[in-house]
This record gives sequence, structure tokens and C-alpha cells, in this order.
Amino acid sequence: MFPASDTPRQPNREPETVHAFIALGSNLGQPVKQLEQAISALDQLPDTHVLRASQMYANPPMGPQDQPDYVNAVALITTRLSPSELLGALKGLEQAAGRLSTRVWGARVLDLDILTYGDQTLNSPTLTIPHPGIADRRFVLAPWHEIAPDTRLVDGRSIADLLDAAPDHPVHIVLPHRDSPETVSSHPIASSAQGET
Ligand code: AMP
Repeated sequence: MFPASDTPRQPNREPETVHAFIALGSNLGQPVKQLEQAISALDQLPDTHVLRASQMYANPPMGPQDQPDYVNAVALITTRLSPSELLGALKGLEQAAGRLSTRVWGARVLDLDILTYGDQTLNSPTLTIPHPGIADRRFVLAPWHEIAPDTRLVDGRSIADLLDAAPDHPVHIVLPHRDSPETVSSHPIASSAQGET
């Protein structure tokens, strides 16, 4: 569905274009604005384009509760960057947004994670793909389900199935329905996906 670039880079060979899903999160400053800016910035990375971006989803923090609610979104990109290049680019965007180096699970201006990179599996000291927190994070699965519910991880599990099985956690769309957020804590959201991927 989303072809991977499994083959190692070779000299004089054009890097392949890979589909990747990126998780975005923020709970400091102006989270919605920062995520919108981050989605624009993703689209401006070298050899990278945003194909789809979810709406914004508000949810209470995991971990320490003495911090503001988070806003999360998921974007589908195409990129010719390698996984490590993509991670470096995301860290650059986090720093440009003024990400504070804080405690684990602590508040942050912008957090960007690589959820999947084609159908590659990676386990290095700096990068784990697919991201290990996917199945536990309704705030990732709900926006992901919105834009690509039929996506499957390399182990065959679909985003729709993972969302069904995810631990309960209140997640609300904050845009464009800011005045009447839709609760999706117990049930998958009504999909507004733009078709099969
Ligand atoms: P975080 O606190 O979420 O920004 O993650 C901190 C570190 O996790 C980063 O500096 C990365 O080296 C590492 N990491 C491992 N796997 C991933 C991934 N799939 N996406 C983003 N960061 C990752």
C-alpha cells in the first residue's frame, strides 16, 4: 500500500520515494497553530511532500497531569530522505519551534515522531520503526484512522483494528468543530478519510 525503500542506498542511485506517517504533538504555546506550522514545514523539507493531514485532536496528557492538554495530529508524507535523515529533519523542526528539553512525558512546544517509514522495520539506538507506542496511543490512532484507516503495520494489524483495541483515553477533535468537539474515547471516529490508500 505504501511502498518501502527497503534496499540500501547505493552510490549513483536515486533514493526511492517512500510513504511515511508522522505524529505531531504539542501542549505549550499555541498548539494548534504550531501543529499547522509544522505541517507546512514538513511539506517544505527537501524531497518531501505532505499528502494528507488529519484534523487536530485534543486530549489530556499521559504521564504527569500537571501540564496542559495536548493537541495531536498525524500526517502522511512522501519523502526521499532516509529514516535517519528524516529523524534529523524532524528534530530540526522541533528545535526551530522552540522545543524545550524537559522530562520524559513532559510538556513540549512541538514533538514529531516517525510512526512508519514504508514497510521498513528499524531498531537502532536512535530510531525504532514502527514507533513502539502506536498501539497504546489513541491520540495517534484516532487522527491516523481519519486519514488512512486501512493502513496496516508490517505485522498485519490495521489502524482501524488497533484503534478498536486501544486503551480508553478521551480524544476530541478541536478543529474545525471547536465549539462542539466530538468525543472518540470509546469508538472509532466517523472516518473522513479521502479514500483508499
Ligand atoms: P521524543 O521524546 O518523542 O522526541 O523521542 C526522543 C528520542 O526518541 C529521539 O531523539 C529519537 O532518537 C528517539 N526515537 C526512537 N524512535 C523514534 C521514532 N520512530 N520517531 C522519533 N524519534 C524516535
